[in-house]
Amino acid sequence: MPSTIGGVGPAQLLSSYLIDQHICIDAGSIGFHADLSQQLAIQHLFITHSHSDHVASLPTFLDAHFGVGGDSDVPVTIYGTETTIASLRQDMLNDRHWPDFIRICEESGRDLVRLHVIEEGVAVQVEGITITAIPVDHIVETVAYIIEDDQCACAIVTDTAPTDQIWNRCHQVKGLTTVVLECAFPERLQWLADASKHLTPSTFKADRAKAPDPDQLRFLAVHLKLNQYNEIVEELAALSLPGVEVMESGIDYQV
Ligand SMILES: [Zn+2]
Ligand SMILES: [Zn+2]
Repeated sequence: MPSTIGGVGPAQLLSSYLIDQHICIDAGSIGFHADLSQQLAIQHLFITHSHSDHVASLPTFLDAHFGVGGDSDVPVTIYGTETTIASLRQDMLNDRHWPDFIRICEESGRDLVRLHVIEEGVAVQVEGITITAIPVDHIVETVAYIIEDDQCACAIVTDTAPTDQIWNRCHQVKGLTTVVLECAFPERLQWLADASKHLTPSTFKADRAKAPDPDQLRFLAVHLKLNQYNEIVEELAALSLPGVEVMESGIDYQV
């Protein structure tokens, strides 16, 4: 199901993961994507946390949807925890950073943007897909998402320091084939990974080992910092972990 979108070459500066056509996880890059039809097809936007690299393109994404015009527009629903939704409203859609589309919708009676507060561990059904938010360990409240249909499942786990709850939950997921897992820093920057609550190749390896049958899963490493990209790739490769590869922008991945 998930494919990364946005970005040029191997860069993973901004996070957006498109699930089929109508669902996207995070708005780091989706609103900067040149293919407007791809943006406009998205009706369900799930946010992991409020950091800029995961929401940077939300203003232009919403702008694109507003620009379509007409009363028959399909609304966009933004899903996030109460804390994340509050941050989007207070820090981004506040009329200073970007127009408050929520207020504008309310005042004009237009149903263009909806907010859906998700509860951790409570599944949401969208377009035949079940999406469940599980808390991870980052410097702001952050969730991973487990994405399931009746055939298979994947987990998107970014951003986080070493964590347990998502892996415990993965043991209960039927048909799990793929885990998208962050690996933001190289080993020499372990101190920075600790301070900012991210993973390095060694902690990536340790968290991968908590998953059910990790050697039978595909792990797609994401969120590699651009200025240490090659270093992280080499360190991950040196670990010779079965099924681990670095996810590439713009590529479709079948789950
Ligand atoms: Zn973050
Ligand atoms: Zn991030």
